[in-house]
Amino acid sequence: MELKFIIRNPTFYVKCIVCGKESDYKICGKCFSERNRLLNLQKFEIEVCSRCESVKTQRGWVKKDLKKAIEEKILEEMQLFPDFRLENLEIAEKVLIASGEIYGEKVSVSVPLNYRIHRIACPRCSRKSGGYYEAIVQIRARGRELKSEDLSIIDKITREIIEESSGEKDFILKVEEKESGIDLYFGSRKIGEKVSRRVAQELGGSVSVTKKIHTRIDGRDVYRYTYLVRLSEAEENDVVLKDGKICVVKNAKMQKGMEIMTGKSVNIRNSRIIAKRDSMDWGIITNLDEHIAEIMDSSGRIILVPKPYGAEIGKEVLIFEFEKKKYAFPKEI
Ligand SMILES: [Zn+2]
Ligand SMILES: [Zn+2]
Repeated sequence: MELKFIIRNPTFYVKCIVCGKESDYKICGKCFSERNRLLNLQKFEIEVCSRCESVKTQRGWVKKDLKKAIEEKILEEMQLFPDFRLENLEIAEKVLIASGEIYGEKVSVSVPLNYRIHRIACPRCSRKSGGYYEAIVQIRARGRELKSEDLSIIDKITREIIEESSGEKDFILKVEEKESGIDLYFGSRKIGEKVSRRVAQELGGSVSVTKKIHTRIDGRDVYRYTYLVRLSEAEENDVVLKDGKICVVKNAKMQKGMEIMTGKSVNIRNSRIIAKRDSMDWGIITNLDEHIAEIMDSSGRIILVPKPYGAEIGKEVLIFEFEKKKYAFPKEI
């Protein structure tokens, strides 16, 4: 398109040379727009993934609404005459209508809207359908099975991480439930690493990594990584032994416990479980002296235990046995 700039000069031009109408310009906006192309739009193509519906954009493949993608593509592709001040753009089925102002007049022009939607498989879906993966995240809990809460948190973490990533390898290939836990297969090592770290952080546990040569590409070794996430066995209100001290687990995720005799806060990493919360009996403190608490247990028997931190007559306690001795601690401390 040839660009013609018409210099505003009211001293010399007071009438449109075409229609004779009074104008600040040599030619009025209406006559100009009838003789020149103010809007231009070539035929274009949009690539859409037929599997995941993502759309190819200048920033790569992204999940977006097709209608929105078409609008954005139009804005990228269309060309406006420089003096034309666009005010409104309307997308009809087969035409694009632009309204705005040129040389002092409101005009509206249209061009045919011509595009083709090309449905293919995006690189991510192609890799996924080819069974590609770089990382396996194995999640296991020490000494117990994974709970359904664990599984739903793992599922949520995985979804979030995949959703916030858009690389062509950022997908989950498959999930395998094992007797001992769960195995997740990821297209990218980075995603596997992120998921394993966040699961260990949120559910309380540790991560170890191993890698194996999977193949060689162009003389370079290509590895597959296995992230083993070991969730800690201890849960809230379990009793653990840490450096010879008996502690109740207060926050399993943070690995925080409390020594039952002194009430001191203790890090329970690498501790050993000595009583699970579900297997403990309960009772009520009926009497106290300096060192001993007298407790009536759930079957009405009276037992004597070392006086725990926070003991008060009438308080409810949980009771467990360790090395043939009974212990108790208040349910709420
Ligand atoms: Zn005119
Ligand atoms: Zn896709």
